[in-house]
Amino acid sequence: MAVQELACSFRRQFAILSKSRISFTDKNYDAFFSESYRLKILSILLVAIGTGLLTYSLIPAKAICAKKRRISKGWKFLSLLIIFFVSGYLFFIYKLSGEATSTLKFIVSLILFWGSVFVVMVVRLSLLSMQRIERLADKERHRALHDQLTELPNRWLLQERLDYAILQAKRRQETLAVLSIDLNRFKEINDSLGHFYGDYLLQEVASRLAKVMRESDTLSRFGGDEFAVLVPNASLEQTIQVCRKVTTVLDEPFIIEGHNLNVGASIGIVLYPEHGQDSETLIQHADIAMYEAKRNEVMYAVFEPGQDESTWKRLILIGELREALAKEQFVLFYQPKVSVRDKHLAGVEALVRWQHPEKGLIPPDEFIPLVEQAGLSKLLTNLVLDNALQQMAHWKKDGTSLTMSVNLSVKNLHDLEFPIDVERLLKKWQTNPSQLFLEITESSMLIDPTRVNKVVVKLKNLGLNLSIDDYGSGYSSLSYLRKFPAKEIKIDKSLIIDMIHNEDNAVIVKSTIDMIHNIGCEAVAEGVEDEETLELLEDLGCDLIQGFHICKPMSVQNIDSWFDAKSWPLKNEPEE
Ligand code: C2E
Ligand code: CA
Ligand code: CA
Repeated sequence: MAVQELACSFRRQFAILSKSRISFTDKNYDAFFSESYRLKILSILLVAIGTGLLTYSLIPAKAICAKKRRISKGWKFLSLLIIFFVSGYLFFIYKLSGEATSTLKFIVSLILFWGSVFVVMVVRLSLLSMQRIERLADKERHRALHDQLTELPNRWLLQERLDYAILQAKRRQETLAVLSIDLNRFKEINDSLGHFYGDYLLQEVASRLAKVMRESDTLSRFGGDEFAVLVPNASLEQTIQVCRKVTTVLDEPFIIEGHNLNVGASIGIVLYPEHGQDSETLIQHADIAMYEAKRNEVMYAVFEPGQDESTWKRLILIGELREALAKEQFVLFYQPKVSVRDKHLAGVEALVRWQHPEKGLIPPDEFIPLVEQAGLSKLLTNLVLDNALQQMAHWKKDGTSLTMSVNLSVKNLHDLEFPIDVERLLKKWQTNPSQLFLEITESSMLIDPTRVNKVVVKLKNLGLNLSIDDYGSGYSSLSYLRKFPAKEIKIDKSLIIDMIHNEDNAVIVKSTIDMIHNIGCEAVAEGVEDEETLELLEDLGCDLIQGFHICKPMSVQNIDSWFDAKSWPLKNEPEE
């Protein structure tokens, strides 16, 4: 009925408007556009636009209802109110179309129009601010759960995903693996090249690692040079495959600023449910296995119960090491180096021990790796060098002129300031530099050969001697060795100890001695434990020997008595 009336009213108005076209030509506007009629059209238009706006406001209101559960009830009620208002507006249009429009009705139409504008604005702005808050919250959540530098998930996100993966694995009776990855030589690179390149290197590492992961794996950075990977539904064999892929991509040198950097990684593996039932235990055990891999210098280690205890002990030792360095709780033992040909005592090698207040003497193999890990190598080497040169000065005063060999750590070779420290200590103890040997292992030169070369040249310019230690124990690059300004090369004791019974080793030692002579260096055999080995080495033309057969490393008091008791003549180097 109401619709029919509305249609009639529109028809009437159309008829008037058609007439008005005639009246335009007659220029008789007032007859057709009376005040009341204009008001009516305007009022209907305003309320119709208002109705449209109100109806439009239902769209953002619906979007809000779909979003937040807690406030959606209120917004649903508001939407119902809007629908109620829309029907009210339509009814008002119907009313307007039927009767003559008074000024009051026009004012009400105006209010209704602005009311609808207000509603649209409120609903729209509410949606926009909610979206903004959501975006900010998303950003905040991303920041809280991701590492800023690499954009990888951080420890918390990995733990969150691990918790979920454990639940799934439990339900489906599956296993899963967590890998803890620690870069082997990041500390040295970061310290020597600076944080800018350190950060860049970490980003490069992250992108290489990401490339070898499956989509279902979670690769995360725990901070520093530590990464972790969650591998869902994986057996030990599959996990080892992942380890292989990781080491393959990290073993390839990183080229940064023209430097060829060899980083490498140690990986700890844990499996659920074998090695832990919850995320925290699994992550902790993966860390322990990683330390084990690092300590044993292997690519990866699978967690074994019992490893926890030894790792905690080691971590405690690291804490104590700092204190020990401050209190100088280290003593030097000396092992003689003897010339094979004329049986002269050529010199001694200083070997450090930690005089622990409770645990007694701790051998270097147990704490040197921790010293390097804790970034304390510079302090230790300087302490050892200071004490060794002081001892040399003592012996010299007593009329015994010996060469002194001091072992360097990887870190020293990458420290451009190290030669300055050496120069200062040489001056302090007025040491003849030609009587000092600094021992370097080959592997430590390979991390950043360009930088090591700079340090080596500076050391060489001080007039001291360089010695390659543990030759034959690992990877060797003959071409590199040929260019290296070493005075002597020490053949690793693992080749010497059983060369009498192991023909292969004897052959290797023979060709090694020949090679050393060919490149113009002296050959030193370490680990000579018996007379037969000494005789064989003499036949092979070895220049110098060191080993238990001559003398074990001894404290300064004991070595003094050994000097006195032995009939080996001392070889007095001419002083400069
Ligand atoms: P290295 O430089 O190869 O030192 C020789 C090691 O072989 C010494 O072990 C010595 O006691 C042992 N040795 C000597 N002759 C024989 C032998 O006939 N048979 C056997 N089985 N072993 C023999 P030590 O003193 O325990 O030192 C172990 C390692 O610790 C050293 O190996 C060296 O790499 C490191 N080290 C020692 N002192 C220092 C130091 O002051 N600084 C640094 N960075 N490393 C050090
Ligand atoms: Ca050595
Ligand atoms: Ca050695």
